[in-house]
Amino acid sequence: MNTIIISIGDELILGQTIDTNAAWLSRQLSSLGITVRKHITVGDDIDAIVGQLRRTGGISFALNNEAGDSRGSNNAADVVLVTGGLGPTDDDLTRHALAKVLETKLKLHQPSLDRIEQFFVRLNKPMSQTNRIQAMIPCGCDVLENNVGTAPGIAARIGKTSVFFLPGVPAEMKAMFDESVKDKLRQIVSAGGDKKVYAYRTLHIYGTGESNIAEILGDMMGRGRNPVVNSTAAHSIVSIRIISRGPDEEAAGALIEPVERELRRRLGDFVFGCDEDTLPSVVGGLLRRGDMTVAVAESCTGGLLAKELTDISGSSGYFKAGWVTYSNNAKIDFLRVNPATIESFGAVSEQVASDLAAGARQLAGADYGLGITGIAGPTGGTEEKPVGLVYIGLADEDGVKVARNVFPGSRDRVRRRAVNTAMDMLRLKLL
Ligand code: AMP
Ligand code: MG
Repeated sequence: MNTIIISIGDELILGQTIDTNAAWLSRQLSSLGITVRKHITVGDDIDAIVGQLRRTGGISFALNNEAGDSRGSNNAADVVLVTGGLGPTDDDLTRHALAKVLETKLKLHQPSLDRIEQFFVRLNKPMSQTNRIQAMIPCGCDVLENNVGTAPGIAARIGKTSVFFLPGVPAEMKAMFDESVKDKLRQIVSAGGDKKVYAYRTLHIYGTGESNIAEILGDMMGRGRNPVVNSTAAHSIVSIRIISRGPDEEAAGALIEPVERELRRRLGDFVFGCDEDTLPSVVGGLLRRGDMTVAVAESCTGGLLAKELTDISGSSGYFKAGWVTYSNNAKIDFLRVNPATIESFGAVSEQVASDLAAGARQLAGADYGLGITGIAGPTGGTEEKPVGLVYIGLADEDGVKVARNVFPGSRDRVRRRAVNTAMDMLRLKLL
């Protein structure tokens, strides 16, 4: 099924707003077994929108020739999803463009106007007259209710193409897609007969890079297989996606399992989780299961480790305390780092990381302590202690283990990798 997503808005083509709508919609469509062929972005320009709608509806030639010109129809998409340009202001031109393409007029849709008025009553605000335009729908089209905001969506047929117009505001677009569009697409897919359902599983890996993983996996990552296995990386977390296709959900899902098992066998403890799992959620789960607690003392990461660990709801059950000891004095005063240690080895040293980890553990009365000290850069590096040098200490009842790392990249990347590495050290300890 030939499917296209069109995003409308000057802010998109000017690069002020990132087109997250098209990305989100593509993901939804792929889980319905619909492959998207193109993303198209158009500015708030009525002629451009009209031209694009005609092309995707396969009627661009029909204007000059007799309607139904076969060259035109062959170009037509089966389904088009359009977002944006349904707002109340002068630059919101989608509904006008659609009326023009359909050679029809906009007509007031009273139930939509009532809903918009009710929306403002609930907000306890007067409705501006400009909002009336949002209840204007091209004749012959269906209305898609908006239960989150004001602009109703529109379902239309342009030639043989089913076109769904959704608001640009992501929350409104998503709710409308789930409530009003998804089921219609399912019907179109099953009527089309060429249904292909996709199933996904993502394994998350820490501690080794993409190229090494590619070597370990070898031909498992070959192109054109079913399932397909590919990888992406962010802050040294490599995510391996298994994508299978089959005639129905069960068949597609069944193809995932043996591949996942083999991947896990080959990658072992590098795999820290799957799908929605994150390092903080996995570490949190392990701490909770073992009835264990953690405390942290951070220097160069400025509290990011504490933030990540406490991003998880319920983390108060295992996260005891965190210190951001940026200055030498703070390390000495709050975490009992020995001044002589800093004097002899420097603040960025194995010994200080060890003292920070042990101090945090002891002072918080936690089972584990993590200590981080390093040079995040871009300034402050020396030959002996380069930018990116980070010592991470992990303390438990048996003592402290310190890892020396040199992370490449910007300040932000160094800090994120330090935090991920610290969490991964704790994860491996807890396994
Ligand atoms: P509109 O429906 O054109 O009035 O869009 C309303 C707002 O939604 C815009 O100002 C953007 O902030 C946001 N928006 C519109 N289109 C997109 C898109 N494709 N991706 C993400 N945000 C968008
Ligand atoms: Mg707009």
